[in-house]
Amino acid sequence: MNKKIAIIGSGFSALSASCYLAKNGNSVSVFEKNDTVGGRCRQLKKEGFTFDIGPSWYWMPDVFDTFFADFDKKTSDYYQLDKLSPAYKIFFKDEVITIGDTLDKICEEFDRIEPGSSIALKKFISKAQTHYDIAINKVVLKPGVSPFELVTKETVSRVDQFFKTISGDVRKHFKNPKLISTLEFPVLFLGAKPSSTPSFYSFMNYADFGLGTWHPKGGMYEIIKAMKTLAKSLGVTIHTNSPVSKINVTNKKATSIVVNDKTLEFDIVLSGADYHHSETLLDQQYRQYSEKYWSKKTFAPSSLLFYIGFDKKLKNIQHHNLFFDTNFETHAEDIYDNPKWPKDPLFYANFPSETDASMAPKGCETGFFLIPIAPGIEDTPQLRVQYFDIIMKRFENLTRQNVTNNIIFKESFCVKDFIKEYNSYKGNAYGMANTLLQTAFLRPKLKSKKINNLYFTGQLTVPGPGVPPALISGKLVAELITKHHKN
Ligand SMILES: Cc1cc2nc3c(=O)[nH]c(=O)nc-3n(C[C@H](O)[C@H](O)[C@H](O)COP(=O)(O)OP(=O)(O)OC[C@H]3O[C@@H](n4cnc5c(N)ncnc54)[C@H](O)[C@@H]3O)c2cc1C
Repeated sequence: MNKKIAIIGSGFSALSASCYLAKNGNSVSVFEKNDTVGGRCRQLKKEGFTFDIGPSWYWMPDVFDTFFADFDKKTSDYYQLDKLSPAYKIFFKDEVITIGDTLDKICEEFDRIEPGSSIALKKFISKAQTHYDIAINKVVLKPGVSPFELVTKETVSRVDQFFKTISGDVRKHFKNPKLISTLEFPVLFLGAKPSSTPSFYSFMNYADFGLGTWHPKGGMYEIIKAMKTLAKSLGVTIHTNSPVSKINVTNKKATSIVVNDKTLEFDIVLSGADYHHSETLLDQQYRQYSEKYWSKKTFAPSSLLFYIGFDKKLKNIQHHNLFFDTNFETHAEDIYDNPKWPKDPLFYANFPSETDASMAPKGCETGFFLIPIAPGIEDTPQLRVQYFDIIMKRFENLTRQNVTNNIIFKESFCVKDFIKEYNSYKGNAYGMANTLLQTAFLRPKLKSKKINNLYFTGQLTVPGPGVPPALISGKLVAELITKHHKN
């Protein structure tokens, strides 16, 4: 293949696709609207503090290894990866659960909370491991072209796992509400309620308890830096500050894109920007999905985020911390069923400087706080302040310390920023959820049905939200392009 290919956006999926397509001999140009690459995974550096703006959980290390191995590289060629021990802490109203770095340690913790529960846990994780092997080695590697892709010996014998839910499954085996919340947490990465997520997705529990939580020294942005270096070494040209404002089409063929008022011609166009936005770059008749289609889909939450520099080390925290001291069902209703600001939100906080001294000045702490909220809801400075106060009070109580007087600076990011920075549909943080009706061939397609040489990748298409799926999405679309455009 020797095609001139334009890629819109520079998130994980776009960078991944750029590497595979360049390796196959194409001339690849990436156009990113922002001044740095990485999409949702950018970096904020301020007064000696380093923040990952978006993703912070490095799960499924095998997927990253496979990506770099496809180019005869190793992750260690680019960044140092450390397994976190413990993986994370969960704060409940009256108790803290610590998730260790091995299944044995986690079993001990489960038995402490509910004697004997480790027996059920081992069985649950063993089944989750089987699901992981099928999902990662078979299901997610399919391009979502046809329903028959899902029909394999392994999936047919587990068809019930697509119709039962994680929530039901967990409750069948565990009675303690804290253990139930602990086991339901990983599927939140898929963007929907556990009661709307098929049991098959318990493979996320294996990713969590089986494979563990890792940290690239220097933060998640190190992965982006690695991919940029790799892409450039393969000959990819990267243009930042280059928003694409139009995809021109003639006779069902994308002929050119408009970037900063210049028209640039290409053989193939691939968009790694949010799918909904990408289609708005086309004239109406070339769009595949209507506004009504998008409005009916279940989107992953948006988020209210705070990036905070503290002038001291904080106590009683780990690198990753979940604050599950309020009712998750009520918060989930406020995200999915009746979108509004949650009264008592759950939240998540990470302090990468707990395990990685390079992330903060000496004696200081880098803090990232996240409240999941419904996409598209009102976002005002007053609401941001109100919710900052709510979570800081809870944080201080649960970790038994005062921190508000130790804040050097704080920055926030919410619905309006997701729209402005990433052209995100309704300000979603991480794409379209993986529910039964939004899985595999039921998701928006990698290839346009209306334009022969236009493709899409990223968290709104297959396989779905998250960094590992984005890496896979880039590979899948590159394979599809290669298959369709062999010389
Ligand atoms: C706060 C937050 C926390 C998260 N936590 C985790 C986590 O811990 N672990 C995990 O695995 N995943 C996590 N995720 C999800 C993960 O970050 C995403 O699924 C993934 O990064 C999406 O990559 P992508 O390639 O689909 O798109 P994006 O990263 O959104 O990239 C799209 C790019 O397109 C650009 N663009 C848009 N419009 C145009 C245009 N017209 N012209 C040019 N460029 C354009 C955007 O600027 C952006 O750079 C998190 C996401 C967020 C937001």
